[in-house]
Parts: sequence; structure tokens; C-alpha cells
Amino acid sequence: MATHSPYSAPVDIEKFLYKLVIQLLIFSQGSHKLLEPHLVTIGAKLRSGANLHDLLQELQSVSKTLLQISKQTKEDSGADSGAASGQAQPDYVMQRLEELLTAAEVPLRFEQQTSMLRQRIRARQTGQAYKRVIDSAIELLLNIKDYGASEKQDLDLFLADLTGQLSEIEQHAESAGESNMLSIDNRHTLSHEISRQVGDFKDSTQSAAELAELKTQTSEHLDRLLEQLLEHKQMEDERQLEAQQKIELMTQKLQALETETETLRTKLKIEHDKALCDSLTGLPNRLAYNNRVEMEANRWKRYRAPLALVIWDIDHFKQINDNYGHKAGDKTLALVGQLLSSNCRETDFVARYGGEEFVMLMPSTTEEQALEVADTIRDIIQHSGFHSNGEDIDLTLSCGVSGFKEGDQHDDVFVRADQALYRSKQLGRNRCTLFADDLG
Ligand code: GH3
Ligand code: MG
Ligand code: MG
Repeated sequence: MATHSPYSAPVDIEKFLYKLVIQLLIFSQGSHKLLEPHLVTIGAKLRSGANLHDLLQELQSVSKTLLQISKQTKEDSGADSGAASGQAQPDYVMQRLEELLTAAEVPLRFEQQTSMLRQRIRARQTGQAYKRVIDSAIELLLNIKDYGASEKQDLDLFLADLTGQLSEIEQHAESAGESNMLSIDNRHTLSHEISRQVGDFKDSTQSAAELAELKTQTSEHLDRLLEQLLEHKQMEDERQLEAQQKIELMTQKLQALETETETLRTKLKIEHDKALCDSLTGLPNRLAYNNRVEMEANRWKRYRAPLALVIWDIDHFKQINDNYGHKAGDKTLALVGQLLSSNCRETDFVARYGGEEFVMLMPSTTEEQALEVADTIRDIIQHSGFHSNGEDIDLTLSCGVSGFKEGDQHDDVFVRADQALYRSKQLGRNRCTLFADDLG
């Protein structure tokens, strides 16, 4: 028959006890090694659906074991109190506590507190003092743990900040590096300064005892470094601007100089052309002939193609001047020049040698061929119908012809052609004479 409490609703006692067994089972787990096998057996039985009755035998064994444990505990505590007047357990705790403090990484700010605690531990306090030591030790260790956690958080923030600053520096360094106008001096100064700052930074990092100190020093160094880079960048910007302005100015000057040079070159060419040109006839002059004869002579020496020289002289030109005036004389010279050059090959070279004398260089032409051509020209000029102020003027020319010969020195050929010309004059003018050995 079930009994009922006068204060509560009727309870199924078996169900309650069953529940109590389970709770005790959970509560006792890991509490004592002697209980473990029983707990394992009861657990297994409960899982397979056992009721209180099935568990009775095992619960009786538990009861016995609990009595045994209780007895053993009493004996142990009796032995302890007899052995070291209640000091063995506190000593053991203190020893382990000291080991713990030694093993712990104690930050600088807790060092003093730790060493004082150590002294208290070594004093082997008892009673209330012993409890206070343990409390202090626990409090200290918890503080160290909290401090470590906040340090880590600070460190994370600090590292994030450091990364930000470094990337800013990197950007400045990059833009500084990109500038191809960096002066070597500036770069040297900057790199020297950076090395110095980094060196200082390393030194202070090594000597810094704590993160807070390290943070302050790092920030200071980075600030200085940043300041220096900014200063350097500003200097470089200014310098670059200045250099750019200089380049622009130089470019302008260079352009002006180029224009000036071009003008000068044109002027020089004109002067040069003038220097080689006879203004009256428009033909190359004596200087131009000297240049040309040297070139043709070299070509002749190299290729051995025949080269002939003809010297022309207007007959009785003095009389033309005298009879028709100096102006008519000039006009005659211009006409003769034009007739001589227009009646020979383009590869031939005609120049006014001086006064009323002209020279003709005929490449790839033997002296005989030259004589033939010269005679044709002479004839053309004679019949050119030259007149002045409605008056016909007799205009004839004489020439001497000679070919370039092996062993010729300088103007040997000129002397021979001149001798042939002289012969033409001697023979009555208006004729062409080929130099012959008997003339020399
Ligand atoms: P020859 O038949 O022997 O050659 O007689 P020539 O009169 O032609 O020779 P001469 O040497 O006696 O006279 C040459 C003249 O040519 C003298 C000079 O006044 C004239 N003369 C030289 N150069 C010029 C010039 O540029 N213009 C003019 N109008 N006459 C010139
Ligand atoms: Mg003459
Ligand atoms: Mg003459």
C-alpha cells in the first residue's frame, strides 16, 4: 500500500526511487574508482529496460561499496592528521602553486605581485592565511589570463594599425619609386634615413619590455618615417615641377635654336652656292671647276674611262666690249655660257673659268670625240645670229682640247689644252685644236 504525504499529491514511490537511482548514477559518475564498475553495470541494465527489482542486487553492491569507501576515507584522514599535524596537504598545494607560478609567463606589470605571493607561499601559512594565499594566487592567475586576452586584442588592433601605416608608406614609396626624376642625392639621403630609422626601430624593439612600450616606440618611428617620406615626396614633386619647367624652357630654346640653325644652314647653302656660281652666266665658277676636276680625275683614275678637257676663249672679245659696250659684252658672256652648256651632254660639266674663258669637262669621252663635239658647238655659236641693238655681231670662239693621260700631275691636262687653245688663236681663231705632242 502506498503512503501519502499530508502536504503533497500522492507519489508513485517506485517511480520516484527509479528516478532517484538514475540521478544518483549520473551524479556519482567519475566520483570514485570503486564505484565505476557498478555504475557501468547499472547503466547497461537501465538501457536494456531493467526495473528497480532487477537492479536490487546491483544497488546492494553499491551500498556495500559506499560503506567501504566511507571507511577508507576516515582512515586516510586519520593518517594524514597524525603524519604532519595537518600540514601535508597545504604543503603539497603550495608546492604545486609555486610550480604553476614559475611555469606561467608573468607580464612585467604582475612581476612584483608574483614575487610577493611567492614569499607568502614559501612562508607555509596555515588556517585563514593559507586560504588567503590560495585566493590571492587564483586572483593573480585570473588577472594574468585576462591581461593576456586584452593584450592579444590590443596586439590585433595594433597590428591592423601597423599594416595600415605600412601600406600608406608603401604607397608613398611606390610613387617616390615611380618618379624617374629622383635625384641620386635625395635617394641616398632618404635610404640612409630609412636605414637609420629602421635600425633605431630594431634597437628599441629589442629593448622594449612590453607591448605598450613597443607600440609607442613603433608608432613614433613610423610617424617619423612617414614624415620623412612625405617630406621627400614634396621635395621630389617640387623638383620634378622645376625640372619639367626647365625641360619646357629647354625645348623652346632648342626649337628656336633649330629654326635658327635651319635658317643659317639655308643661308650657308646660298652662300656656298654663290661661292661656286658665276652670277653673270649662272654657270659654275672657277672654284666649282677646281672641285669638279679633282672629283672627275679621281673617278678617271679609278675607272679608267676616258676624260677630256676643253678650254674655250671668245675671239676678240675686247673688240665686242669696245664696239658695243660693256653691257653687250656681259650679254655675250651670258649667251656663250648658255650655248656651251645646252649643247653638251648633261654629264658634261661647263664652268666660266674667268673673263671670257670657259672650261668643259667631258667624262667617258675621248679627246677625239671631244674635239668633234667642240667643233660642232663652235659652229653653233658662230651661227647663233647674235646681235646687239639690231646690229649683227660676229661671235666666234676658239678652243683647245686634251684628254687626261697616264702619269698626269695636277693641271698637266689644263696646260696641254691651253697650249692647244693658243694654237687655235695662232691659226686664226674660230677653230678647235687637239693638243699634239709637237705643240708642247
Ligand atoms: P683673243 O681673241 O686673243 O682672245 O682676244 P680677246 O680680245 O678676246 O682677249 P683679251 O685678253 O685681249 O681681252 C679679253 C677681254 O675680255 C678684256 C676684258 O675687258 C674682257 N672681259 C673680261 N671679263 C669680262 C666681263 O666680265 N665682262 C665684260 N664685258 N668684259 C670682260
Ligand atoms: Mg682670253
Ligand atoms: Mg679672248
